[in-house]
Amino acid sequence: MSLPDGVERRTVDGRSRLVTRGEPVYGEPTVGEWRVWDAGRSKLGAMLALDMETGLGPAQSVLYLGAASGTTVSHVADVCGLTYAVEFAPRPTRDLLSVAASRERLFPLLKDARRPETYAHVVEADLDLLVQDVATRGQADVALRNRQFLADDGRLLLAVKARSEDVTAAPEDVFERVRERLSDGYELLETRRLDRYHADHLAVVARPR
Ligand code: SAM
Repeated sequence: MSLPDGVERRTVDGRSRLVTRGEPVYGEPTVGEWRVWDAGRSKLGAMLALDMETGLGPAQSVLYLGAASGTTVSHVADVCGLTYAVEFAPRPTRDLLSVAASRERLFPLLKDARRPETYAHVVEADLDLLVQDVATRGQADVALRNRQFLADDGRLLLAVKARSEDVTAAPEDVFERVRERLSDGYELLETRRLDRYHADHLAVVARPR
């Protein structure tokens, strides 16, 4: 399996794990200066563990939507270049600020990802990657609204939580609706269910149309 530069595999406690270099954030195991990227706690980590083509790598600029306390975005900022992290809940954003204190490429923004006009003056245009894990209703719409920040050859890396869209519908029906809606602004390159790590989640890799 080919991993992005900056992400490696190491045996930790007898198990092969993904690791990145950087300061620990969430009590994750470490080996020397490397810390485990737990696929069970990170949809993007699960995408890497499933060998999806994410395009992560050094110098890639990133807009990350739904940063929470920084579990996943800390790995992203340690691997990639300039990383904007949008989160709308004040409590996790406080933790995110501590995560960013030791990471000069990570910029937390206390903003609502459904309203990109509120951070368009701060976030650079033509970014390489839009990573989204907001687990809220209207996940495809959020990705469409934030498409404006992506370069023409940029990539969307999206985790869709079925239950956030509709608690009663079958996840596959929800995913079909999301795929259809996304195709208004994106060409879908790869989609995979993440159930091995995250129940009823779909991962999508797409590029802007
Ligand atoms: N991506 C995180 C990680 O792996 O470390 C976990 C994210 S959690 C599943 C979803 C997060 O999205 C929550 O912290 C929630 O507050 C945030 N969120 C939901 N809707 C949002 C919105 N409209 N704008 C910004 N953040 C939002």
